[in-house]
Amino acid sequence: MGLRADPVDMADRAEAGDETEDVRRFWEGLGLPGLVDVHTHFMPESVLRKVWAYFDGLGPLTGGVEWPITYRADESERLGLLRDFGVRTFTAMLYPHKPGMAEWLNQWAVDFARRTPDCLHTATLFPEPGVAAYVRKALDDGARVFKAHVQVGAYDPADEFLDPAWGLLAEAGTPVVIHCGSGPAPGKYTGPEPVGRVLARHPRLRLVFAHMGMPEYEDFLDLAERFGEVRLDTTMAFTDFSEEFAPFPRRALPRLAHPTGPTRLSGLGDRILLGTDFPNIPYPYIHQLRVLERLGLGDEWLRAVCHDNGARLFGLAGGGRSTDGGLPGDRPPSGEPPGDRPPSGESPGEELSG
Ligand SMILES: [Zn+2]
Repeated sequence: MGLRADPVDMADRAEAGDETEDVRRFWEGLGLPGLVDVHTHFMPESVLRKVWAYFDGLGPLTGGVEWPITYRADESERLGLLRDFGVRTFTAMLYPHKPGMAEWLNQWAVDFARRTPDCLHTATLFPEPGVAAYVRKALDDGARVFKAHVQVGAYDPADEFLDPAWGLLAEAGTPVVIHCGSGPAPGKYTGPEPVGRVLARHPRLRLVFAHMGMPEYEDFLDLAERFGEVRLDTTMAFTDFSEEFAPFPRRALPRLAHPTGPTRLSGLGDRILLGTDFPNIPYPYIHQLRVLERLGLGDEWLRAVCHDNGARLFGLAGGGRSTDGGLPGDRPPSGEPPGDRPPSGESPGEELSG
């Protein structure tokens, strides 16, 4: 996969059918019932269009790397494609870049979760007055996973406004996918240090380091080894695209292996989760799967990463495919019905410029 592929309209992609078959063959070959992808983006259409425009314009946070969006299509088409791929469970990673936006996004997400049962109800947060209250409300509404974007939000994750919110999330055992690495471009509060302060205060918080912590992979692996509830998602890591500017250090590969022995200390393989960044990726979905395969960590590792770890973490029905049992402290399926508050008609996202 070249770095400079042209953006292609999905409708024109003659190979789309082939890709669907390739993806299905991948997980069928592993004996899996499908994929669990913890890092896919769904958000209000107006916001997503602005995200795409940002990538098109090579905004500073893209690191200036050309970033043609492969799956630029309407929401229904994107959902259909994920389902055709056999992604049985996914998320709606949405995030604010300024105050006053998270609660509105969360209201949209309640509605999205209600009409998209295979999407884990996702919520977000920002350091601002009222954050603890709307995080509690999102949990009451049935949120199963949160997204925090330290790079785009440009905030300190250890900000005092967030402290009670982290406490609530730690207590609830709700995973938080957090973009806190300095890739593809650093932010003021990216890197392992700020989020390390959060974990020091909330050691049971289930942070999922997005992108394997790219590019500070080894520092984030250190944190994951230190804090037993931390996970990492594979999003964009190991791809030809990312290896160009943030190669994963080969010497760290053994740290990702499937754990063996009673101590479970020999590898993080039971805490690594498939994530892809669909649809905002500059290459086909199958590429993320192929690069995981080519790491050479074995089929058991692939089964854990591409399905079982996520199924266990989120207590998915039929998730008990694997025979190796659950992790201590894993939550049962919540069984909570999603809330029924309609999203507000107001759209702070509309104020986004550029
Ligand atoms: Zn993402």
